[in-house]
Amino acid sequence: MKVKRYNYRQQFGPQVDLLLAELKDMLLDGRYILTPEVDDFEKAYGRFLGLRYVRGTNTGTDAIAIALMALGIGRGDEVVTQANTFNATVTAIRMAGASPVLVDADPRTFLMDSSQIDSAVTSRTRAIIPVHLFGKPTPMVPLLATAKRHGIHVVEDAAQAHGARIDGRRAGTFGIAGCFSFHPSKNLAAAGDAGAVATDDLQLAQKVDMIRSLGQQSQNEHVVAGMNSRLDAFQARVLSWKLPRLDEWSSQRRAVASWYRQRLADLPVSFQEEHPTEEHVYHLFQLRTPRRDALQRHLVQAGVDAVVRYPMPIHLQKSFADCGWKAGEFPVAEQLAQELLCLPVRPDLSAAEVDYVANCVRSFFGA
Ligand SMILES: *Cc1c(COP(=O)(O)O)cnc(C)c1O
Repeated sequence: MKVKRYNYRQQFGPQVDLLLAELKDMLLDGRYILTPEVDDFEKAYGRFLGLRYVRGTNTGTDAIAIALMALGIGRGDEVVTQANTFNATVTAIRMAGASPVLVDADPRTFLMDSSQIDSAVTSRTRAIIPVHLFGKPTPMVPLLATAKRHGIHVVEDAAQAHGARIDGRRAGTFGIAGCFSFHPSKNLAAAGDAGAVATDDLQLAQKVDMIRSLGQQSQNEHVVAGMNSRLDAFQARVLSWKLPRLDEWSSQRRAVASWYRQRLADLPVSFQEEHPTEEHVYHLFQLRTPRRDALQRHLVQAGVDAVVRYPMPIHLQKSFADCGWKAGEFPVAEQLAQELLCLPVRPDLSAAEVDYVANCVRSFFGA
């Protein structure tokens, strides 16, 4: 059996020809940039989140950079995030001109260890970026209290957590801004690169609007330093097409995760801790074992598309060598980078496929 990580055909459903006809019209009519299709998706995604303003961008990386720029964060400022995230979180901080400061990961949740924030904050700190990693929402209530005490912003990296909830409230709606990616690998996938900034703050939304369009307030009137980063109309149409099914997909992902947890419960492995008040959306299902590399080889040989996300924590990446971080500085992030393995998780994964993957993992451990 082959167990793949993605099934794009399935995401479009049986009526895909209707979408293709619309995309054809858009192509032939020249509806490409900041068209009503973009506006429609921004409004629909705002309704989905329960926020007033969504502004589409080229990528999730740009969304984070633009949100920081719109908050006036740049050169000389520090932004705190976690050592175990995808490269983009930290690259975005640097795109805004600010300096990234890291805290370690929590070994049980694989999220930011919020207890380290106090000692990471300095007089130059302007924001914290928690990453809702692998689709698990970061506990936001204590984090918001910490940020408030220091008088700094919270910008959420929700690139892996579309629709995840804490006590019924969506990830990405707790901080001053939530940043999303719709890269094809994500739970809500465009047909190329795409991202968005979401906020309830009108002034911030207006700033984001200008910054994504070269700082333009009205035609030929460029009033702030900006970049050129807008959500493509085609991508917006594709995203609107898929959005109505996102919550159903998230429950299906949770069902797959709970099958894995049950079938592997007696093995010497662990998983991202779950909490009853949250809805994890399982962008990735992470299994933790010191025998990670051997298990991955075993699974790949058996036709299971098991991958490692992410093998190198931020502080050891060459692209950030000038930040001066050292090996051993964030030991939990380093250990997770060596011990986490992603088992395939997709909404349409069948019980037979999950069983097959689970049996392959069990046979590796001689169970
Ligand atoms: C994917 C991702 C991003 C960046 O999104 P792009 O659209 O690829 O630029 C940022 N942060 C995290 C945690 C991600 O997974």
